[in-house]
Amino acid sequence: MSCKGVPPRLSPKAVLFDMDGVLYDSMPSHARAWHETAVKYNLLATPEDFYLFEGCTGDSTIDELFYRTFRHGATPEEKEVIYEEKAALFNKYNSGHVMKGAQEVLKQVKAYGLETLIVTGSGQHSLINKLNHTFPGVFEREKTVTAFDVQHGKPHPEPYLMGLEKAGVQPDEAIVIENAPMGIRAAVAAGIFTIAVNTGPLKDEILWNEGANLLYPDMDSLAKDWGNIMAACGLSPLKQES
Ligand code: CA
Repeated sequence: MSCKGVPPRLSPKAVLFDMDGVLYDSMPSHARAWHETAVKYNLLATPEDFYLFEGCTGDSTIDELFYRTFRHGATPEEKEVIYEEKAALFNKYNSGHVMKGAQEVLKQVKAYGLETLIVTGSGQHSLINKLNHTFPGVFEREKTVTAFDVQHGKPHPEPYLMGLEKAGVQPDEAIVIENAPMGIRAAVAAGIFTIAVNTGPLKDEILWNEGANLLYPDMDSLAKDWGNIMAACGLSPLKQES
């Protein structure tokens, strides 16, 4: 992958990572849990829909299914019950496997001295609480943005704007790594250089159309190309202490 997509103004200090489908290989379990819950409540949905809604909060996903099926939104009580069922099924199905290549990307990012933050639409305590165990010392809880921190979920830019604030950087000092169309839309709307990693079943075109600046088929290939992206930004790796 060439680095011609890197704008001259980009001067990265922080990388904002989405969580599901980027750091954890959890999307198949999310899609299965959502789809089974939707079927139980007679909501119109296909498993692929949940890759399109990915990144949105649980509440807005449930509202979307209600509008589509019944032409009105869900009540707060309905949202609570349905989200609880989905979360319980997700916990049953999710392997907790780290996305292949994710540790390597993080190692590369750290080698260039960049700060690492998580910006997720997830409200799944099971995964959020696991982050420090899976990636020890990489992400600070106070600098993590989750569904509990924002008024508006992705595709609204708020989660990524909050991520910039927590990192203390400007949009052109950050890079976002995202796998979902709604996440890419949110990051692009926040004015941040966005790298898409297409780890799911959607066509690349859907991610490009949301404004992704670069696209990789998986985290392994992003890790391999990281040095080129940094070189295009004029950055070299930090010297290793001997
Ligand atoms: Ca995601």
